[in-house]
Amino acid sequence: MSDLLVMKFGGTSMGSAERIRVAARLITEQSARRPVVVVVSAMSKVTDLLLDSLRKAEAGDQADLDTNLEMLSARHRECCCGLLPESRQREAINGVEALIAEFARIAKGVMMLGERPPRSVDEAVAVGERLSAYLMAGHMESEGMPAVAVNAAEVIATDAVFGNATPLMDATRTRAAAVLRPLLDQHKVPVVTGFNGSTLDGRPTTLGRGGSDFSASILAAVLDAAELWIWTDVDGIMSGDPRLVSDARVLPEITYAEAAELAYNGAKVLHPRTLAPLAQRGIPVWSKNSFAPEKPGTRILPSVDAGHGPHAVTSMTDVALVSMEPASSVVSGTRVMARALDGLARANVEILAFTSSSYRQSFCFLVRQSELERAREFLEEDLALELVHGYLKPIEVDADVALIAVVGEGMRGTPGLAGRIFTAISRHDINIIAIAQGSSELTIAIVVRRGGLELAVRAIHGEF
Ligand code: ADP
Ligand code: ASP
Ligand code: MG
Repeated sequence: MSDLLVMKFGGTSMGSAERIRVAARLITEQSARRPVVVVVSAMSKVTDLLLDSLRKAEAGDQADLDTNLEMLSARHRECCCGLLPESRQREAINGVEALIAEFARIAKGVMMLGERPPRSVDEAVAVGERLSAYLMAGHMESEGMPAVAVNAAEVIATDAVFGNATPLMDATRTRAAAVLRPLLDQHKVPVVTGFNGSTLDGRPTTLGRGGSDFSASILAAVLDAAELWIWTDVDGIMSGDPRLVSDARVLPEITYAEAAELAYNGAKVLHPRTLAPLAQRGIPVWSKNSFAPEKPGTRILPSVDAGHGPHAVTSMTDVALVSMEPASSVVSGTRVMARALDGLARANVEILAFTSSSYRQSFCFLVRQSELERAREFLEEDLALELVHGYLKPIEVDADVALIAVVGEGMRGTPGLAGRIFTAISRHDINIIAIAQGSSELTIAIVVRRGGLELAVRAIHGEF
């Protein structure tokens, strides 16, 4: 393993000229000691603005599209002026305008088509990250720190699932060696765009919202990095979402498995797929605050001294509970379950939690609301005969629910925790709709009414 450090800066850490200056100083400090690869997100809110612009284009709304493009341009031009000496500003602004023109060209195509083909969307939204990589590298160069902006479409190879692509690690390793190693050998800092990649035949892709964390972990893995530092706007990974739990505290150390459980169950601080490439190679990760770099942050490791009890509670809204139940004993519940799961797999719908009862053979599962319609379509088609003949009760959907996950290695084999969690919730008169605990005992997932979510999260956090 090399001494290479990968540093990722999120949207707020790249959110203004002042923030980019701070980030550049953090990079400079480290690159004086060891080779560094930087991964950057788009400036905060820029990805939302780009996606909104494409929707405006699809709707044929030229005036609103122009307003958005002007906002995009003004924000990045202002940043150029705040970051660069006057002698370099003209050229940098031209570079910014050229990238925005690329976006505008795709938006125009979307307007003419009256639709947003997923691959055009991926090509277009990556412009946000390309702008911030361009600004960061330009600023570093102007401060005498050799840096080169790199479009991750040249580095990260993925499958062709536009909007949520999966990396092809071997091909990415080859590309990274060809593109990034020579820069490192010349003592230049590659500033790579987060979020995007491309298929083997060169079509642009993205890794899903919040995907820059994942980009950084993919690069850390294929470059055999010594560490990955993820710079964000909070002091590390916390025992609860700081927006919900005012007394949430920073966790000094957690395991890959805990971090992955938290991320999969809604903790926005990490993209859910970030941990897998690192865990395989045991590369340590730090989550750190670029607004308070002196604070230690959270270290994510293969194992930690777990103690007894949960480490953190997280939650997810925008989910829906789907319930299914055979209406007749002629139908095997297990077979219905198997076919339902098969349908969901083919629909590419992720199951967030699953529970079943053995006697009535009913079962329910939680999915994202964004995937609900697709799930329902596949289920109703696959089980059409059973539904029509009344062997299966109509599929029930409850979208007024939320998921809470209580996570911790220390929950394994510790009796009484579930009881304390449920008592804490019930003190607030909140009804539990469904419960799931995997046999790893790492996570207890609880489904409650959406309206009771905040109170329940605080009650559980307070209890532990
Ligand atoms: P970035 O742009 O740096 O990737 P994100 O906004 O994606 O940052 O993620 C950081 C945010 O995640 C924090 O500002 C915080 O509000 C939210 N968050 C949710 N759950 C947690 C948690 N358990 N610990 C820390 N932050 C959390
Ligand atoms: N800019 C992208 C997003 O907002 C990726 C990221 O920030 O991680 O989803
Ligand atoms: Mg993020």
